[in-house]
Order: sequence, then structure tokens, then C-alpha cells
Amino acid sequence: MSDCLFCKIISGEIPSKKIYEDELVYAFYDIDPQAPTHFLVVPKQHIPSAAAITEENGAIVSHIFQVIGKLAREMGFSDGFRVVSNVGEQGGQTVFHLHFHVLAGRDMTWPPG
Ligand code: AMP
Repeated sequence: MSDCLFCKIISGEIPSKKIYEDELVYAFYDIDPQAPTHFLVVPKQHIPSAAAITEENGAIVSHIFQVIGKLAREMGFSDGFRVVSNVGEQGGQTVFHLHFHVLAGRDMTWPPG
């Protein structure tokens, strides 16, 4: 999608700190980290949010979680980590291209406090 920030990051038009890429997904560090390690995993296909997952496009979610697991093992998140996908404006979504935040390196117990 031509006016989508993450589509531009995937294409290289906007620079990013890439962690991993395959034919289906792209992973890169969040520009405004909320934990010592904070990265995003996004499908290369433009899907607006988790609310737009269907029978037809849903296999990408399984693939994304396999990639998250592989990166978590490689990065040594042995004490755990958090995966978040914000959906819609009230859900805190600011970039309308499906993405999964992966956060690690501090206490992630929920609810906080
Ligand atoms: P969300 O608010 O769930 O839609 O998440 C969007 C995330 O994208 C936020 O955590 C932003 O910090 C992050 N972000 C925005 N622009 C960039 C960028 N150019 N490179 C990396 N991360 C970005």
C-alpha cells in the first residue's frame, strides 16, 4: 500500500533496523522502545490489523509466531517476553498495517503492579 509506513519500511523506502526477513515477514526494532528489547514483526502483505485476519490470509499469523519463537530463542529471552498486537484506535493502534510487538528484558507480568 503506497501510503503505509510499514509497507515503506518493508520495501526499504524508509530505513529500519532489520532483525530478520523472509519471503513472508519482516522484523525490525521499534523506533520508540518500551522495553530493553522491543521489536516488531509484520507480514509483507498489507493487512490493516488483527481484525482483518480471515480464513484466506490467516496462515501468516502462524508463520509470524514461528518467527517470533525463533528470534526469542536466538535472543535468549529465557525469562519470558510479551507479544502485543494493538487493534484499532481504541486499542492503541497507530500504524494500520498488522504488526506484533515483541518486548523483553524487564518484568512483563500482567496486570502490571
Ligand atoms: P502501534 O501503536 O501498536 O500501532 O505500534 C506502532 C509502533 O510503530 C510504535 O511502537 C512506534 O514506535 C513504531 N514505529 C513508528 N514508526 C516507526 C519507524 N519508522 N521505525 C520503527 N518503528 C516505528
